[in-house]
Amino acid sequence: MQDKNDISEMHWKHDLLGSIEVGIVVVDRDYRVVVWNQFMENHSSIVPSMIRGKSLFDSFSEIDESWLRAKAEPVFSLKSPVFVIWEQRPYLFHFGANRPITSPSKFMYQNITIFPLASLSGHVDQMCIIVYDVTDQAVNKKAIDELNIKLEQLSRVDGLTGIFNRRYWDEQLSREFKRNMRSPGNSSIIMLDIDHFKKINDTYGHPAGDEVIRQLAKLIKHASRETDICGRYGGEEFTILLPDTAAENVMVLAQRIRQSVEKLTIKYEQQSISFTVSVGIAQFDPAFEQHMQWLERVDKALYKAKKGGRNQVVIA
Ligand code: GH3
Ligand code: MG
Ligand code: MG
Repeated sequence: MQDKNDISEMHWKHDLLGSIEVGIVVVDRDYRVVVWNQFMENHSSIVPSMIRGKSLFDSFSEIDESWLRAKAEPVFSLKSPVFVIWEQRPYLFHFGANRPITSPSKFMYQNITIFPLASLSGHVDQMCIIVYDVTDQAVNKKAIDELNIKLEQLSRVDGLTGIFNRRYWDEQLSREFKRNMRSPGNSSIIMLDIDHFKKINDTYGHPAGDEVIRQLAKLIKHASRETDICGRYGGEEFTILLPDTAAENVMVLAQRIRQSVEKLTIKYEQQSISFTVSVGIAQFDPAFEQHMQWLERVDKALYKAKKGGRNQVVIA
C-alpha cells in the first residue's frame, strides 16, 4: 500500500514538474544535471535522457562558468538561496522568446532562483535552479524606460526651436549659480532679444516671425560651444549660459552672434527678412545672494543695449 502511494505521488510530482511554466533544473556539486523538466526540454530541445549526468557548462556554452560558480557559492556554503534578475543578467540559458513573431525580443529574459536541496542528514549536495520567463515584463519595462527618457528630453526643449526651454534653462542657471558660489568661477550669461520684432510679425506675418525665431536659435546654437547652455527664454528672447568663460571671450561670442545676425537674410515665401539683435552680458558676482539677481543684472544690460540704440552688446 505504501509503495502504491509512493508511486502515485511520484506520478503527480512528475506531472507537476512537466506542466509548470517555469524551468526546473537540479544539478549536483559538479553542475551535472539531475533533473530537467518539460519547460527546459521545450525551450532547449534537449530531452532529459540526453542531458542527465552531463555538465551544464558542456551543454550550454552561454553560461559563464566562473560567474555561476561564484554566484551559487552561498547555496552550498551557507545553504541560502540566490536570486538573479534579468536586469543584472538578461538570461542564464539562451532560449528563444516564447512568441518569436509577436515578441519584440529575440531571446527569453529570465529571472533565476537557485536554492539548496538538503538531504535528510542536512548535507547539501544538489541545488535547484528555477528559470522564470520574464520576457514580457522586461520588454515592457524597457519600453517604459525608453519612453521616460524621451519624455524627459522632450520636457526640456522648446517646441518651436528645439533648444532648451525656459524651465530647463532656469534649472541649469540655478545649478551653475550654486556651483559658482561653492568655488567662485567666472561663468557668464548672455541675454539676447530681437529688435523691433513686432514689426517683423506685422510686416511679414506671424509664421514668418516663427521662422525668424527658428533661424536665430539655429545661429545661436551653431555659434556657441558644446558646453554652453542655450535656451529660448521668451517669445524672441534667448539666453546662453557660459560656464567658466573669461569676460572677453563672452564678448567675442556675443559680438559674433550680433554681427552674424546683422548679415543674415532669411528667405520666407519669396520675402527676404533682415533683422538685428540687442545683447546683454552679466558675469557671476560673488555678491549675489540668489540666481535671480544674476538674471536681473543681465536683463538690465540688455535694456541698456536697447536704450543705447539696439543692435549692440552691453556688459553689465
Ligand atoms: P524691442 O526692440 O524693444 O525688443 O521691440 P519688440 O518689437 O521686439 O518688442 P517686444 O520684445 O516687446 O515684442 C515681442 C513680440 O514678439 C511680441 C509678440 O507678439 C512676439 N512673439 C512672441 N512670441 C512669438 C512667437 O512664438 N512667434 C512669433 N511670430 N512672434 C512672437
Ligand atoms: Mg524684441
Ligand atoms: Mg522681447
